[in-house]
Amino acid sequence: MAQEADVFVEARARLVEDIRRTISEIEQRTSLNISYECVLAAIGKVPRHEFVPAAPDADAYRNRPLPIGFQQTISQPLIVALMSGLGDISNTDRVLEVGTGSGYQAAVLGELAGAVYSVEIIEPLASQAAKALKRLGYDNVHMRVGDGYTGWPEYGPYDAIIVTAAPDHIPSSLIEQLKPGGRLVIPVGDFDQQLMVVEKLADGSTREHDVIPVRFVPLTRDKD
Ligand code: SAH
Repeated sequence: MAQEADVFVEARARLVEDIRRTISEIEQRTSLNISYECVLAAIGKVPRHEFVPAAPDADAYRNRPLPIGFQQTISQPLIVALMSGLGDISNTDRVLEVGTGSGYQAAVLGELAGAVYSVEIIEPLASQAAKALKRLGYDNVHMRVGDGYTGWPEYGPYDAIIVTAAPDHIPSSLIEQLKPGGRLVIPVGDFDQQLMVVEKLADGSTREHDVIPVRFVPLTRDKD
């Protein structure tokens, strides 16, 4: 990457400005505190085109979701930025992601956090994402193939958990794997999904906030 001229620097800068405007509007509308400056720097850095090999490169820097095969999509950059901002992630944090997909959100989290643990249920997507992350040097992103509904308890508890597929309720296993003071960012619902932030307070109780309506692929479950 470093020696290769990156022709997408300007395209990413335009994307960043677009996201900045929208997130600042959402922040005012919801009175939520969204830490997005570091997130925007990360979006300005991560080569999204490397995570969508089937799409024309220029499409990677539109503020749109894109298909990644297996009926799954890479989320819209705005949503990646918003969820990362709501996670309020600092560089010593340990973060769990459920739904690696293309690996793009994992890379953005890798720029922000100390360590990222990401779970993907579709094996070929996981191995494609792992390859891209390795090629780009994201050594602090660790992956597992499996059902992320039950999280990844071995490496928890986590400062933040970001879920990028929608369950119809908040999985209690994920709340259990949050540190006190930690934040779960998750789309919830069948058709009418809400992006929610669940804060775990020092006494272990939780506080929920609705952010905006969203449309994610459903969180599927392993059958046993
Ligand atoms: N974060 C991704 C977006 C992926 S779309 C990105 O940046 O590209 C959601 C992903 O969640 C899909 O790849 C889907 O296969 C995965 N998924 C759905 N249910 C899951 C589950 N129970 N556990 C882990 N991954 C799941």
